[in-house]
Amino acid sequence: MDFSGRALFDIDKIREDLAELIGEEKHRYIESSPNHFYGVILADDDGYFEEYTIGTTNPDVNSQFFLLSEHADEYTLEHELGHLSWAWHDDRSWFKVLDETLEKHTSDMNKDRLKPYARGYQCGGAGTIMSYESELLSIYSSPEITNNGRACGDPLHADNARQLREFAEALRVKLQAIQVSTESSS
Ligand SMILES: [Zn+2]
Repeated sequence: MDFSGRALFDIDKIREDLAELIGEEKHRYIESSPNHFYGVILADDDGYFEEYTIGTTNPDVNSQFFLLSEHADEYTLEHELGHLSWAWHDDRSWFKVLDETLEKHTSDMNKDRLKPYARGYQCGGAGTIMSYESELLSIYSSPEITNNGRACGDPLHADNARQLREFAEALRVKLQAIQVSTESSS
């Protein structure tokens, strides 16, 4: 896609521009399929990403769209899909700062999607996929998984695997409802 002449500093604006570029019909098709995810990969020259950021989402505004840097690594896409499923980072201060930040920046409509267990974790010298550790494991935090003998989650504070399962189940219900409504209207 050719974004030339467009300002690339706001994820929601970039999504709107993309919608314009691909055409309303195609965009509406994607948006009406909640199990479809789509994104834009930006070059360094685009100036959106700072040195250490390689991906971003804004699930409070749009639950299907992500941005990746051209330097995104093998885990970045999964990490961003995790955010779109309402999974979050680990918080070294024992889950307090992140709790407050999320509460503050999430609209009332979505507040019930914030779960205290939807956090990453560090275990056995590495971090789960939603953490900021330099060494990452290709897993979501879960008390049922271990690394070097250490549990990679905690049932109350770090179980993104549960969050992902619940998100998938909610998505299944949503898709079924869409199917029923299109069947009854056709
Ligand atoms: Zn993140």
